[in-house]
Amino acid sequence: MTLSQSPAGEGGAATAGVPFDAAIAALTAATSATIVCHVQPDADTVGSGLALALVLERRGIPVRVSFAEPAELPQSMRTLPGLWHLVPPAEVPAEVDLLIAVDCGSANRLGALSDRLAGAATTLVIDHHRSNTAFGAVNLVDPDAESTTAVLARLLDAWGEPIDALVAHCLFAGLVTDTGSFRWVRPGTHALAERLLATGIDGPEIARTLLDTHPFAWLPMLSRVLGTARLEPAVRQGTGLVYVFVRRADERGVGSEEVESVIDIVRTTTEAGIAAVFKESRTVDDRWTVSLRSRDSGPGMRDGIDVAEVATALGGGGHRYAAGYTAFGSPDTIVAALLAVLD
Ligand code: AMP
Ligand code: MN
Ligand code: MN
Repeated sequence: MTLSQSPAGEGGAATAGVPFDAAIAALTAATSATIVCHVQPDADTVGSGLALALVLERRGIPVRVSFAEPAELPQSMRTLPGLWHLVPPAEVPAEVDLLIAVDCGSANRLGALSDRLAGAATTLVIDHHRSNTAFGAVNLVDPDAESTTAVLARLLDAWGEPIDALVAHCLFAGLVTDTGSFRWVRPGTHALAERLLATGIDGPEIARTLLDTHPFAWLPMLSRVLGTARLEPAVRQGTGLVYVFVRRADERGVGSEEVESVIDIVRTTTEAGIAAVFKESRTVDDRWTVSLRSRDSGPGMRDGIDVAEVATALGGGGHRYAAGYTAFGSPDTIVAALLAVLD
């Protein structure tokens, strides 16, 4: 069961009548739950994982939350409620009862924890990626949802589970980050935000902690990285591609938040409808994670490229306007591979 059949573009009401029943049945039947977030976790996957853990804990269900890598949770997420449920991947047994993947479009986004799918009595996928492969026994996937935490909020409503301030804090974390601080919204997004804020959470503080807090080393890092920017105006019949490299040396002294912030600067380039950031692995030579962004067509602009399609062709996935993949090789090789898919 997926939500991909749900009518698109009807806003908050679009989820009325959506079949949450199978997900609720799996959750209420569970004797214990293991929640897995995607590798290189962001606030949507961790916020979803911890929110669901808090609800299950409230119901008396033993629960753990984990992600395969990196070893440490990014600094900006260390004030989220429910962190006591986080365990290192080595502490996730080979055989579990209910395994829930949150904000993961495919099994390989679980990284080294993807082998736990086979050992689970049952599996539930809660997600909002258009490219979702429906890899669970039950798949609650709403590609029109702003964030996985928004899917979860609607699931909790259907389930009759109240959203208290701790749960709201986690849900708001995913909502504010995945909507780019409420820029990519749909009818119903602000109503959800309003409900979460009404529980008494400190929205400005949550947003500042997750999005607007960087060490001084971020500034010289940006200077070096943005100095590598290249513009290829002819790509995709004049849509244009802008890209930069974040080399391993640039990542010294900064966290993943600082590295992930780069795409949000690069993607604002007027002359390019597609933006890419190539991020060198801190540990494995010639391995890069790549962020892709595009935007909706503006007047007189040739853009609106589906970067999920581009990323999928390169072994990754994502959303129409935000996607990613892993690349291998020299800088020249990985740029050539992207250009080949775009042309
Ligand atoms: P990012 O650029 O890392 O913020 O990722 C943008 C979107 O693409 C997110 O929704 C990710 O879930 C998705 N994504 C990033 N990397 C991959 C990958 N290797 N495989 C599948 N989806 C990815
Ligand atoms: Mn995510
Ligand atoms: Mn998400």
